[in-house]
Amino acid sequence: MKIPILHLEEGNHHLEDLIKKGSLHFYRDEVYYNDIRIRVDLNKFDKNISCRAEISTRIHLSCDRCLAEFDRDFRENFEILFYVGQKELAIDEDSVVLISPELKEIDLTPYIQETLLLSVPMKFVCRTDCKGICAGCGVDLNQETCRCNEKPYDSRWEKLKDFKKSK
Ligand SMILES: [Zn+2]
Ligand SMILES: [Zn+2]
Repeated sequence: MKIPILHLEEGNHHLEDLIKKGSLHFYRDEVYYNDIRIRVDLNKFDKNISCRAEISTRIHLSCDRCLAEFDRDFRENFEILFYVGQKELAIDEDSVVLISPELKEIDLTPYIQETLLLSVPMKFVCRTDCKGICAGCGVDLNQETCRCNEKPYDSRWEKLKDFKKSK
């Protein structure tokens, strides 16, 4: 998402954009399968641009324990100050990007991508008490009870036991 800033008037601006699905690439593309909506509030002052962006989309996740698949709404914000000034700033440097006063446009795409990557958990559990899948019998323990300790019951063996006893 590129925003022309060189001739932008000083003051507040609101912009919206839709990043079409598939136009950004991620390590886990299957997670970010939907369009990504971006709302940006920016303020230009003395050629500096302070920018607050909200990202919203729907992501696709699978539970790390039971493998169930889900879609979830995703919403996250980031703030960046594109700063031309030379003065020392008393704010978090991570959110400050130094720019030249002649810079024509700012590109928010890398920040959008980074926010998505950092805010979506690598490991995800469908619910905190998800019991997962039994490594022994393979049942989904949220749906069924473990069968590992079930003794196979077969009447023929029971009869054989009786036969041995009676001998
Ligand atoms: Zn689960
Ligand atoms: Zn089991």
